[in-house]
Amino acid sequence: MRSVDSSRAWAEVDLDAMASNLRVVRERIGPGPAILLVAKANAYGHGAIAVAHHALGAGAAGIAVTSCTEALELRRAGVRARLVVLGPVLGEEAPFAVRAGVEFALPSLELAQAVAQATEPLARPARVHVKVDTGLGRLGVPPDRALDLLRFVRASPGLELAGVLTHLAAPDGGLSRSAKRQLARFDRILSEASAEGLLRGRDVWVHALNSAGILSGLEPHYDAVRVGIAAFGMSPDARLAEQRLRPVLSVRTRVVHLASLRRGDGVGYGGTWTAARPSRVAVLPVGYDDGVNWRLSGKGSVLLAGRRVPIVGRVSMDYTTVDVTDVPGVELGTHATLIGRDGAEEIRIEELAALVGTIPYEVACSIGNRVTRTYVTQRPSLREAPLAV
Ligand SMILES: *Cc1c(COP(=O)(O)O)cnc(C)c1O
Repeated sequence: MRSVDSSRAWAEVDLDAMASNLRVVRERIGPGPAILLVAKANAYGHGAIAVAHHALGAGAAGIAVTSCTEALELRRAGVRARLVVLGPVLGEEAPFAVRAGVEFALPSLELAQAVAQATEPLARPARVHVKVDTGLGRLGVPPDRALDLLRFVRASPGLELAGVLTHLAAPDGGLSRSAKRQLARFDRILSEASAEGLLRGRDVWVHALNSAGILSGLEPHYDAVRVGIAAFGMSPDARLAEQRLRPVLSVRTRVVHLASLRRGDGVGYGGTWTAARPSRVAVLPVGYDDGVNWRLSGKGSVLLAGRRVPIVGRVSMDYTTVDVTDVPGVELGTHATLIGRDGAEEIRIEELAALVGTIPYEVACSIGNRVTRTYVTQRPSLREAPLAV
């Protein structure tokens, strides 16, 4: 349902483009591995509930998130598929996860002990994924402790093995030697664990590759891959461009005011831009709270009437000003595109990220809550519940 706010700024999430991106991923990995769609951080700003339902109808076998809260939110929204929390679940959160049938990663023996204690009295065990740190240097057991953790899971009535995972450090995946070294370490652990019979169990998934791993052609794919950014139509790294990935998100707004300026008049905080000629400046009701990065001040552009127009003056919390002096036909209410396509022109998230010196992930995640998400699809999900949007 559209709210009143959607007349100010809205994001159009093209779920069919996401489904098409998942088909590209499927082509890359072949028919075997399961696809875990990574929907953390509100599905990289795209809206986790709608994205999860639609991805499950488009070939994903499960959804991965970072926190227990994110997983429970998806369960409550009717997602019945396999849900995996990739981040640590604390001892006191574990019973909630177990009751909701949410699986989660275990990054250390210490946490495993706390969780095992909390889940032992429950009617069913916690389904856990042993997380091995093969080189990211963040979460996970060191390789030489992995077997101990797997043995502890096997011996604990409150725990049941659901998977073994590791996470790559290189943003360009297999283009870096470090990624191959990580998988070699991972493989050594897997074969030792397998020889000891530690990987046996119901629906145990071994998984390691993210978008960069897949797009760089890294192998093996193991039982499942974890796909985030590629599903949303972006490449994790410029060297991994895949032309068939389609952007999923567009962000649009509309002109709420037109200012007529005389030569020499300044615009915005600090008066960083002054009109060099009599000018028309359009005011857009979106600022850095909505995801228009402050560093785009005097630097970025938006699309209006199919034309690229420059952002002038500083972006503020709530407003962005653009010079439309040379664009005829701009009126109150004229739509403007901050991200996406308008006629022959297109602004990609990757372009914005490069302009302000960040990564596409951060640009997508920074789109604020005042921007109403709307969903576009020709094909409602068949296998899952109707979209709750
Ligand atoms: C975010 C995340 C992913 C997905 O990464 P992309 O680069 O977006 O594909 C996969 N695995 C883990 C553990 C993550 O945290």
